[in-house]
Amino acid sequence: MSDPAPTSLRIPRWLVSPAPGWTTSADVLVVGSGIAGLSAALRLREQGATVLLVTKTLLTAGSTAWAQGGIAAALADDDSPAEHLRDTLVAGVGLCDVDAVTALVNEGPMRVRELVTLGASFDRYDDGAISLSREGGHHRDRILHAGGDATGKEISRALIEALDRVKADPGIEIIEHALVVDLLQDNDGRVCGATIHVIGEGQIDGVGAAYCRAVVLATGGLGQIYSATTNPPVATGDGMAIALRAGAVITDIEFVQFHPTVLYLGDDSTGQQPLISEAVRGEGAFLVDVNGERFMHGVHELADLAPRDVVSRAIVRQLAQTDADHVFLDTRHLGKDFFDRRFPSIAASCRERGLEPSVDLLPVAPAQHYASGGVATDLVGRSSVEGLYACGECSCTGVHGANRLASNSLLEGLVFAHRIADDIAARFRAGELPLAEPIPPGDDTTLVRSSRRRAVQRSMTDGAGAVRSATSLAATSARLAELARDADGDEGGPKTWQTTNLLQLGQVLTAVAAHREETRGGHLRSDFADRDDARWLGHLQAVRRADGLVTISYTPVPAGQLVPTTPISVEEHP
Ligand SMILES: Cc1cc2nc3c(=O)[nH]c(=O)nc-3n(C[C@H](O)[C@H](O)[C@H](O)COP(=O)(O)OP(=O)(O)OC[C@H]3O[C@@H](n4cnc5c(N)ncnc54)[C@H](O)[C@@H]3O)c2cc1C
Repeated sequence: MSDPAPTSLRIPRWLVSPAPGWTTSADVLVVGSGIAGLSAALRLREQGATVLLVTKTLLTAGSTAWAQGGIAAALADDDSPAEHLRDTLVAGVGLCDVDAVTALVNEGPMRVRELVTLGASFDRYDDGAISLSREGGHHRDRILHAGGDATGKEISRALIEALDRVKADPGIEIIEHALVVDLLQDNDGRVCGATIHVIGEGQIDGVGAAYCRAVVLATGGLGQIYSATTNPPVATGDGMAIALRAGAVITDIEFVQFHPTVLYLGDDSTGQQPLISEAVRGEGAFLVDVNGERFMHGVHELADLAPRDVVSRAIVRQLAQTDADHVFLDTRHLGKDFFDRRFPSIAASCRERGLEPSVDLLPVAPAQHYASGGVATDLVGRSSVEGLYACGECSCTGVHGANRLASNSLLEGLVFAHRIADDIAARFRAGELPLAEPIPPGDDTTLVRSSRRRAVQRSMTDGAGAVRSATSLAATSARLAELARDADGDEGGPKTWQTTNLLQLGQVLTAVAAHREETRGGHLRSDFADRDDARWLGHLQAVRRADGLVTISYTPVPAGQLVPTTPISVEEHP
């Protein structure tokens, strides 16, 4: 690892918030109710730990319920974990952690079967076998889906119903409308709870403190940092910002996946945008530019089904060449009956906007979709701060490298939630992670008004979005610094806390993206257009030091790590 280089970026330790007016406790605090949080809570309870699960709006909110395409697992007779491993490593452009991917692909099939046993109902062929489809970057049919294109909704339903079944259990408490503001730590820096703002009734209302032996952050992505994203409104990067303030290592944060086929609703359309899943291209849809020309052949051997970064980059290039703001997805030949049956949600979403997939070309453009980086963890989800775990999209287990392979993120949440729960339970059994005394929040605090959210998003989109350069990143960094300087410390509340999280994370992302002078995966630099393995085959880590300054260091991938960066040839995959 290189010596950490201090930046000029300073992040305060706390968000301004009222002193806790209530307290509660449990063995483990799980933050978030997507696939990662729900799976971790269920498994922890199974293992005997008492659990407090908090989520900032409803249990159903989060990216999980929006997932369309499906969940990847090597279940087919002609497939194997080794092939899933290989496809994942290729998509990650040399930066995946091979051990993490190995755990993912080996344990994935078992975890998915358990999900079926729990009650998740995946689509099946007439003979009763689970129907498997293909998405970008996969060389085998290995994507399980439900309700055609409503996979996440079904998984979320099954997990919440499983939680409902244990509701009477006093060992598990669930609080909705409970937003975690900051982590509490003891004198040695060990995480031992969190401050939480609850919009509730009776005793638990307003800001309080939850004390615990371990915290699992499962807060999802950071999509709302950009003007246009497929992520729902709750994806404000809270968990990553909270962990950053507590001193945890944040890694690979510059690798942001822009999904190539997001319905284009015009330049002024902001917030969550409708996604057209890769699975549509998996079923034969293809891209054309505004002149009706196909442009993916010759770009990649998988053509329209190339990994996402490759397709997004080809679209960005085509937009520049044709001076257009969108390309088209041609789905017309799939036919109305098939499209409606296979993609009912996408069909409805198109029709709501006056588009008929069997008749019209669908206007699409890349928009933010997935954060490949996050809170750095080891193979059992432990962060660099004792007592703090991270799971799902807010974590960086090393599974995705520079670019996530389609449908691997639901699987990651599932597999690593189990690993985390098992690790915590084993440590409890060994007498580790005793309850600790938190030090009270200090006065190193700040807040940015929520009215500044648009300015943060615009600045991130302009300078640190799908295409970046030293000049654009410097402009974004200066603008964000200006917004941070204007922070006027008002009393706070969910909107201000979330906006401050977006700003702080945006500042770190921009600083790290400026460091990486190459193009790789989800990091596209117009001024360094090529991949540069000699200088950049490794990870950038950002850490907030005790004095508030953020440092950035570089760790090369271990020498000798298997790094396939070229796809398996089509011949190898008849
Ligand atoms: C439109 C769309 C389609 C997708 N399609 C697929 C797909 O087909 N296959 C696939 O594998 N992946 C897909 N993804 C990605 C995948 O859905 C996510 O990466 C995954 O669901 C993340 O799960 P999670 O549990 O980590 O987070 P989420 O499901 O996002 O859940 C995060 C939870 O944390 C809560 N939370 C956040 N901040 C706080 C806070 N401060 N305090 C308390 N609670 C908080 C949220 O309210 C939410 O409950 C898609 C994503 C989108 C947006």
